[in-house]
Amino acid sequence: MSAPELYILGSSSATPTRDRNPSAQILKFGHDKIMIDCGEGTQMRLIQLGIRHTGLDYICISHLHGDHYFGLIGLISSMNLMGRKNALHIIGPPQLKQIINLQLLEGGKQPEFDIIFHPTNPNKAEVILKTNHFELSTFPLKHQIHCTGFILKEAPKERSLNIENIEKYQVPISFFKNIKAGEDFQNEQGEIIAYQLLSYDPKPSRSYAYCSDTIFDLEIVEHVKNCTVLYHEATYLEALQDKAAERFHSTAEQAGIIAQNAGVDHLIIGHFSSRYDNLDPLLQEAKLVFSQTSLAIEGLKFSIEPGAASEPAIKTPIEFSQVVNLN
Ligand SMILES: [Zn+2]
Ligand SMILES: [Zn+2]
Repeated sequence: MSAPELYILGSSSATPTRDRNPSAQILKFGHDKIMIDCGEGTQMRLIQLGIRHTGLDYICISHLHGDHYFGLIGLISSMNLMGRKNALHIIGPPQLKQIINLQLLEGGKQPEFDIIFHPTNPNKAEVILKTNHFELSTFPLKHQIHCTGFILKEAPKERSLNIENIEKYQVPISFFKNIKAGEDFQNEQGEIIAYQLLSYDPKPSRSYAYCSDTIFDLEIVEHVKNCTVLYHEATYLEALQDKAAERFHSTAEQAGIIAQNAGVDHLIIGHFSSRYDNLDPLLQEAKLVFSQTSLAIEGLKFSIEPGAASEPAIKTPIEFSQVVNLN
């Protein structure tokens, strides 16, 4: 499977700005699309970027501050109007089920598709679901209210066959599956050939960790250790460290420290305070600690690939229309 792709749909904290919406992202694993947070304006971003919500079967909501889910009911409504039939999985705090159900009930229109809620646990790390393509797990974040991070990891891959040795030891085709699953081969003479000799280790599974919102907390490190790409909030510059702590948020430098300690390949920072028009100082600050850092700019597409990727694959950032003077 080609590398998972991450699309940034929103990277502002709390309130939108002229060119930033509140938090939202889409991660594509083959044909599967997983949305992570769904702030206000997310549908417009999907339209601007030409991303359909067909195949979007999973939506993860980190917590119930409005900048992370106020776009959700609108998206559900549009999915229904467009004739969706597939079940939609929503992963988030338990109270979210009640909120969505009340909005649907009072709107007098129940969707034609099932909504399956998966409650998150703010106190311990958990695997929420496994599909043929990926595994989704959550871990606790320290914020003002119940908040969890998410880890999405490719399903373990099969071992690949060492054709030279397969021929040498005359392994029948019918046994290939067993070798890929890690089983030794016994030939007609009773000789046992180790599967390691007949196959290669699978490529490591690529993974993506999402941390928003959280106070600086080194306990996060153990949860996101060795992930391929880490997204970590960086609401403020270090100069506002006190404000960050007071509001249970992090600074760009602190995001860099988490990435460095976790040994990830790449860090993406986001959830920027609306006070920053120019995001460069946030990038530079994080890079001083962890050089492989990028900004979550809306419209960018990142490849979730191992190795110290220099710059992400970039989709043209969204261009905003010029203001037309009607006078
Ligand atoms: Zn937020
Ligand atoms: Zn929050």
